[in-house]
Amino acid sequence: MKLGLSILSITIIGWATLITPAYAQDQSQNHHFLIVRYDDYSPRIPMHQIDAGEELETRLFELFRRHRARLVVGVIPFPVMDPEQQELDPLSDNTPPSWLSQPNEWITLLREYVHNGTVDPALHGYEHRRHPPTGYRHGEYRLQPYAWQLASLRQAQQMLSSSLDSRVDVFVPPWNAWDANTARALEELEFTWLSPDLNHAEYSGDQLNIAPQCTADPAQALQWIQKNQDLPGDVALVLVTHPFDFAGEQGETYFKQLEKLLVYVETSNNWQSVGFNDLPMLQASSWAQRFREAVTWDRAQVILHDMFDTAGVTGLIQRQPVFLMPQSFYDSQTWYWQGMIYVVLFFTACVGGAIAWITSRWVRSHNHLLMVAAIVTTGLLVYLILGAVQIVGTGYPVRGIRWQAIAGCAGVMAAFWIIWSSRQATASASTTRQPDQNDQNQPTIDSTRSVQST
Ligand SMILES: [Zn+2]
Repeated sequence: MKLGLSILSITIIGWATLITPAYAQDQSQNHHFLIVRYDDYSPRIPMHQIDAGEELETRLFELFRRHRARLVVGVIPFPVMDPEQQELDPLSDNTPPSWLSQPNEWITLLREYVHNGTVDPALHGYEHRRHPPTGYRHGEYRLQPYAWQLASLRQAQQMLSSSLDSRVDVFVPPWNAWDANTARALEELEFTWLSPDLNHAEYSGDQLNIAPQCTADPAQALQWIQKNQDLPGDVALVLVTHPFDFAGEQGETYFKQLEKLLVYVETSNNWQSVGFNDLPMLQASSWAQRFREAVTWDRAQVILHDMFDTAGVTGLIQRQPVFLMPQSFYDSQTWYWQGMIYVVLFFTACVGGAIAWITSRWVRSHNHLLMVAAIVTTGLLVYLILGAVQIVGTGYPVRGIRWQAIAGCAGVMAAFWIIWSSRQATASASTTRQPDQNDQNQPTIDSTRSVQST
């Protein structure tokens, strides 16, 4: 009997060990992940206007190798070398020439550090060409037709993968801008990771993993990490860097701050510097789900900050650092931030209504003026809402101050219409009452009076 129980328990423990992922086995350690992105890797040209020497990347890659860290390098396969250069057509059958397929120091350096495990290569666009017209958010992929996105991603992925002799399945969109078609094309091409920013979430699936840019400042990243010692497990922080960050006199400071961060992570028990594909594959709450929640949570905070800052109440809302947190964190936090927004908007609408009510007392005897005010505020509200729709169309989020203006205007408009219509009703009631005034016994008179008295 005892022997049977022992065998049973050993079997259960054995199975549990086999089916539990490696990162979940050690409960004493909370694993946190630092991902450093370095965008825009391509042969440097005068157009980039960076006065860092050609040895910048060698120094950067060496820094990561020395501290046993990983660097995600976003590579541009067919970079625009000249603003006048004609746009490439990925839908044509010919693959355009790329610096990746020709012998040069840039590809040699990249290959060396990919093969020694320091660099985790990612695709950073096709040409890195700005597509949307002026006034729209910068981007190469966002709002482009699906067929174009699929074809350009396919060509770019094939070019980069074949030049590095290893499959590249991480996409970092230029200017962090993407849309639902980008996600669809990435799924089709079996990309595993997408790293945009927290501007919007236009992906409802779970096949693609998403981890957004959290900060571009290594000093801020280190400060957040040191301040938040009690983070739950599987938290990720994505730091985004560019060649221009390392240029000039300030570039030296940036380098030093980045090194400090890497030293901290190297000696930390909880933090690890990883590439996207080193992150654990989540089952219950996927990275895509976390990303969507993070976007909602962050947007709510941004809107609230904007509202309070505009009202001159600064520092009341402490914006929290953007780590990519577990699902339970967003479940417990998002309702609070969103609730605050609704409270502020409701209060603004009430203030608008009160202003309209006070104003209406001045024009007691001029009902037509109230109607004019109601029409004008209705027009203004439509104008504000159409403006918000247009802003969303250009790829930018609607600011808190506009939401407040919409709420305030709606409050004013509703109050003017209500006051005007109630006065109209009173006026018409008093005119219809006139002929019946002699007949006191008519029940209809009582009902008219009761309307009048309310
Ligand atoms: Zn870029």
